[in-house]
Parts: sequence; structure tokens; C-alpha cells
Amino acid sequence: MTMTASTRALALLRETFGHAQFRGEQQAIVEHVITGGDALVLMPTGGGKSLCYQVPALLRPGTGVVVSPLIALMQDQVAALTQLGVRAAVLNSTLDADTARTTERALVAGEIDLLYVAPERLTTPRCLDLIARSQVALFAIDEAHCVSQWGHDFRPEYLQLSLLHARFPDVPRIALTATADPQTRSEIVARLALDRARVFVSSFDRPNIRYTIVDKTDPRNQLLRFIRDEHAGAAGIVYCLSRRKVDETAAWLVAQGVNALPYHAGMDNASRARHQARFQSEDGVVIVATIAFGMGIDKPDVRFVAHLDLPKSIEGYYQETGRAGRDGLPADAWMAYGLADVVQQRRLIEQSEGSDEFKRISTAKLDALLGLCETPGCRRVRLLDYFGEASAACGNCDTCIDAPQTWDATDAARKALSAIYRTGQRFGAVHLIDVLRGRSNERVLRWEHDRLGVFGIGADVDDNTWRSVFRQLAALGYVRVDHAAHGALKLGVASRPVLKGEERVEMRRVVARTPAPARPRTSTAEALTPVAAGVLQRLKAWRTGEARAQAVPAYVILHDSTLSEIARRQPSDAGALARIPGIGARKLERYGDALLQITRAP
Ligand code: ADP
Ligand code: ZN
Repeated sequence: MTMTASTRALALLRETFGHAQFRGEQQAIVEHVITGGDALVLMPTGGGKSLCYQVPALLRPGTGVVVSPLIALMQDQVAALTQLGVRAAVLNSTLDADTARTTERALVAGEIDLLYVAPERLTTPRCLDLIARSQVALFAIDEAHCVSQWGHDFRPEYLQLSLLHARFPDVPRIALTATADPQTRSEIVARLALDRARVFVSSFDRPNIRYTIVDKTDPRNQLLRFIRDEHAGAAGIVYCLSRRKVDETAAWLVAQGVNALPYHAGMDNASRARHQARFQSEDGVVIVATIAFGMGIDKPDVRFVAHLDLPKSIEGYYQETGRAGRDGLPADAWMAYGLADVVQQRRLIEQSEGSDEFKRISTAKLDALLGLCETPGCRRVRLLDYFGEASAACGNCDTCIDAPQTWDATDAARKALSAIYRTGQRFGAVHLIDVLRGRSNERVLRWEHDRLGVFGIGADVDDNTWRSVFRQLAALGYVRVDHAAHGALKLGVASRPVLKGEERVEMRRVVARTPAPARPRTSTAEALTPVAAGVLQRLKAWRTGEARAQAVPAYVILHDSTLSEIARRQPSDAGALARIPGIGARKLERYGDALLQITRAP
């Protein structure tokens, strides 16, 4: 049985999906589900979760019923499957009654391979009754972490899904999520009654994403330079904390010639939907957004995710940055971070309505993220370690590429802490730096801080370095931020041994970063010859026309990676074209001639 199941699965993968091999755990998962087992799949964004239920759904008799919380996404998934020759349909609230009835009839008649259903719809008596009258190959529960009441994607409708098991005990279920933490995992198992399910955990590494965290000095211009130097004309996401900052940043980027659009929960629904649709289907749109923009963005060719503000936790950072590079091509996660971020996030926690327990957990999560920001070691090692995965220095993050220098900051730290103490723990970093550098400005004179012993003891250290010293002291817990006192810096418990000279403090040195060395982009457009680059350009123009004519996103026609491969290999016949990843039987039939014509043209 396993033998045939795996051979059939591989044949389907090649013919229908146009992929040569299963990736990672996919094969084991597919085989397990084909033979009727339940599965819980934990796989990072971009890991290839969809195939894990699509392949078994196509190989088992009946319809695969996919529960997904995101209506907009269902439509794109169905469009992509239809391109592959798979009979796919949706049932959700956007359908008119006639279309819904046609789909329902097709389901009962066994004419649908994959049916995407919104959770609130699936659990209606009408829908359950339909399913009872149909043959169901499996239930796939996508974004399964939506059952978690503690997560930010909680969907109450998801709690109802346990009734699938009660009502249809013989239909295998596969739940999928990219949320890695053990607590969410056990919530999924409990709430979906998946205790018999086999759990498949993939590595959460996203090797094609390069992590970079820079000192925030002039964030907008830093961002602009990053976009211009590394990702001109590419699709990307810029995250900001507030709606106002989203609007301002988007407008500013547009004024600088970047094709940027804002997205946040304060906008009216129509413009929000329009901006999301443009991002999803056009080439090279940069969306500036609050975290309201996120779950379900499955655009495979997002080349960068930039943070202008610090996220709340490593989970958040990982999830947001994970939206880059789902196609496996090189992508960037870039963040600008400074003392103000530490102050702001600590304030958000302190002023939140949450219980003490909530605040304690939030603080611990923030501290872990700050540790990632300040580490002189490999970012990826730190990130994966947080998810319980051991790894070695990656070679594809800023600290690996250009190891930060550290310096013995014991003396500077003591001076900074003394300045905080001597001025009465009532001032922020700007004033403290003035005192340390010995500036007799109006404020310093008013408080008579020019008469303190600490006045001018830090004149030999520049402002930038002092800022980074205060930031690291705050990030590492030596200094607390008092929000009741307008962000005054106070001594943390950890500061005592430093003040007493019992502890050495090592800090990252701020340097004006030289641009990172050109990345080895082996499998991308950069490595193309001029002729191949010309072919790629023509392929993209053709794809734009096709996408418009069919009213689907460009990547639904063919992925960037597939176009690049065609441009590189310039296949001369259908056989050679068929060997290119992403070209399955149906796409060959449909687009083969057009593609060959482009590659053959001079
Ligand atoms: P996820 O839902 O886990 O984020 P997807 O299912 O959207 O990921 O897949 C991410 C990308 O990887 C898609 O572009 C998909 O075509 C591609 N992919 C998935 N599995 C394979 C495979 N075995 N070989 C090649 N590409 C794959
Ligand atoms: Zn690294």
C-alpha cells in the first residue's frame, strides 16, 4: 500500500504540480494521510503546507474539504489549482445563491476535487448535511492556530471544528500551522480532538531569508536606501506600529518614487481591500502596514519585509518576516531598531490592561526579542534556538556577514548608570547624554546638573555611542524605563554589580555600516547572462498580459522562479520545458507554445 501510495503521490506531484521532488516532511505527511491517518503539520511559512493536503485529497476518493479563515485567499488558491487542471471551488459568504447551489450540487455529485470552505459556513447544519451526502477524501484545517485563544489570530468559529471528528470519525483530518510554540500546539491538539494525530514538525529555518537589524538613526532614509540599493522595483512589506506612521511613511515613500500603498485597520474596507488586491496581483508593490496586514498573505515573491518599529516578540518577528521569500528565492528581513523602540514597547506592556501574569510574559517575550537585536552572534542561531532548534552560524545574516565588533563598555556603562543615579532617576537619554558630554545648555543649568561630579565625564565618547550604550543598557535590563515619569531611565536590579565594579559589560560597537557584500544569488535573475535577462523580461511582459486577461495574480500563471529557470535554460522543445520546476502537464499544454516562442525569438 505504502509503495503504491508513494509512487502515485510522486507521479501526481510531477505531472500536475510540476515539481520534481517532495520537500522535507511532505512525502511522509502525504503518505500518512493518503492511508487515512490524522496529522498535525507544523511547518514554516513557505515550507509547502498546501501540497500536504492537496496531494492526498487528489489521490483519495472524494472531495478534499479545506477549512480556511481567509476568504480573499481561497479565491487565489482556487485560481491557482484551476490553472493546474484541478477541479477546485469555494463555499463562502461572497457567493450569490445560484453559484453556491451549483457548487453544492457539484460536491454531492462528486465533481469537485478540492472545496475551500469558511469555518462558519462549514459548521452550519445545511453544510454538514451536504457533507454527509458527499464522499469526503479528507478535512484539511489550515491556519489551525486560529483555535488558540491566546494567539492574535483567534477565530471563535474554529472552536466548532471539533465536531467534524465527532460527526465524521472515518474521514482523516490534517491540521496545519506555521506557529511553532509548544503551547499553541497542545491547544490545537486539544481543541480539534487530534490526540491520535501524528505530529510532523519541520525545521523552522528559512535559509533564503537574510536577517539584518540596523541601528536606527534616520529610519526613513535608511529604509529608502535599503529599498533602492537592494530591492528596487520589488514587492515588499514595511511594518509600522501606528496607523499614522503607516500613512506618513507610505506617502513619503511615494514622494520618493517608490510604488507604495498604506494598509491598516483604520482605513475604509474598500480601500483596504483594493490595496491588498494590488499588492497581491501587481508586480513590485510595497505595502506599508500595521500588523493588521498579514495572515494569509501568500504572495510567493515578496522580496523583503522591513520593520520600522520593533515587534512585540520573536514569534511576531518570525511570523512577519516569514512572509518574505516563500518562493525560496533570496529575500531580506530588515529592521531598524533604537532606544525609542525599547521605551515604546515597554510602555505598551506597562500601560496595557492585562493582568500581572500577562505583563510578566509579555516582558519576557520582549526581552528575548531584544536579545536577538543586540546579539553579536548569528541572528538565525538565536531565532531558531528560541523555537527549540539547534543550529550553527548561518552565513546569511548581518552578524555572520560582517561580524559586529564588541568593546569593553564597563567604564561607559558605569558612567551612564552613575549619571542616571546622580540626576535622581528622573531623566531620559537625551538629557543624560548632555550631562555626560558636559553641555551647559538651558536644561542642564536649570537643574544645576553642571555642578554634579558626572558632568562632562563622558566628553570623550560621541553622542551616537552614548545612545547605543543607553539602548543596550535598557535592552539588557540594566536600566528600567519609568513610563509614569515620561520615560525617565531608572536603575534596574542588574545594574548594581556594574556600578560596584563587579561585572564587566560587553557591548556592540556602533559603526556606520558599509553596505553588505553582494549576495551570491545563484539561482536568480542576477546570475543571468544579458541574453537570458532579455528573455526573462519578455517572459514577464507576457505573463502580465496573461494575468490581466485571466484576471488572476501573475504568480498564479507561473512563478518568478519558473520564469527565471526558463530564461536560464532557454529550452528548445516541449520536453526540455517540461523538466523545468513549476511546469506541469496542464501548464505545458496551455502555455508551452507561447513560452517556447519567447525563448526562441532573438
Ligand atoms: P505554505 O502554505 O507552507 O506557506 P505553500 O504551500 O504556499 O507554503 O508553498 C510555498 C511555495 O513552495 C509555493 O510556491 C509552492 O509552489 C512551493 N513548493 C511547495 N512544495 C514544493 C516542492 N515539493 N517542490 C517545489 N516547490 C514546492
Ligand atoms: Zn547568521
